[in-house]
Amino acid sequence: MPELAVSNLHKSFGAVHAVDGIDFTLDKGEILALLGPSGCGKTTTLRLIAGFEHPDAGTVTLQGDDLLAVAPERRKIGFVFQNYALFPHMNVAQNIAYGIRFAPHHRERVQKLLALVDLSGLEKRYPRELSSGQCQRVALARALAPQPRLLLLDEPLSALDAKLRESLRQEIRRIQREVNLSTIHVTHDQDEAMAISDHIAVMNAGRIEQIGTPSEVYSRPRSAFVASFIGHANVVEGTVISANEGALEIDAGGLRLRTVRSSGDFHLGDDALLFCKEEDARLGGEGENCVPAARIIITEYHGEMISAHLESQIGPLRVRLPASMASNVQVGREVSVFFPPEACQVFLRKES
Ligand code: ATP
Repeated sequence: MPELAVSNLHKSFGAVHAVDGIDFTLDKGEILALLGPSGCGKTTTLRLIAGFEHPDAGTVTLQGDDLLAVAPERRKIGFVFQNYALFPHMNVAQNIAYGIRFAPHHRERVQKLLALVDLSGLEKRYPRELSSGQCQRVALARALAPQPRLLLLDEPLSALDAKLRESLRQEIRRIQREVNLSTIHVTHDQDEAMAISDHIAVMNAGRIEQIGTPSEVYSRPRSAFVASFIGHANVVEGTVISANEGALEIDAGGLRLRTVRSSGDFHLGDDALLFCKEEDARLGGEGENCVPAARIIITEYHGEMISAHLESQIGPLRVRLPASMASNVQVGREVSVFFPPEACQVFLRKES
């Protein structure tokens, strides 16, 4: 039996279908990321599970209990907010102890939690005397104090700078593993979702488009939305000119592009979108699947990698390559871009 089961969850605010039929399960100790653009219903999903909102329809069971029949304060769910929401007039120890202040041995528990989140010695400090990363550790310890059955994290790192975000996300993973706590983590940052989650649910307009391991959603997107949302892909609009058992060819303004894998029911003349990730595309080559005479207009450095942005007869393109090849990517240069057929994926345009 899964630890958490969410089934056919719906919530509307007036005419807005914030959550429009969501299903997923979570195993014990698993961390699931809800990933998607702003307004796709991530926070509303968390708030429905926590009990801050009531769904219009659907069921939520936690360890077999019907959660919707339980008052929010009795659900035994820990919640960490984006803005920490610490009590400013309480010190670190009092903040952490808040949910267990009447329990016996709560002082020992606070000491253990301080050690767990690496804040031992700071228990007398007030939130105004802490860095933002330390505040978020306090918020995490406070959520863990009552030994919740489920942890919900709502963009817990988005108020932090990039370096801190990276180190704290590994800390969250370590702590969550140590406590073996089933966790749902809402984020719009795909690097964060990829780095710490066992599974990712990619959301769009109140629905889950795809749920899978980070490598599944990255390498095998199941819809045009997921293919365009995850990573940086080249997107080419075209028309299907041949379809044969997964192998497919499209015509994009006179250019023929072929893929050896596609899913769906394609017919000649269908409007299609071809995706090729920037790290799969290559500079140079001629003939099949090559876009000729593309002009490099911008180069972007990402540490050991470099992204070249190009303009071409089929629209803007991107190619990512090792920075050691920087001498090949001077702005203004005209090159061809090769889309390896095995790295291209085609979706019907009406699906997007
Ligand atoms: P973000 O990443 O920007 O936080 P999100 O994916 O978490 O977005 P939600 O906050 O769940 O999205 O909102 C989903 C939709 O529901 C949005 O269109 C939002 O404006 C709407 N919505 C959310 N809460 C309310 C509310 N209390 N009243 C009216 N509309 C709401």
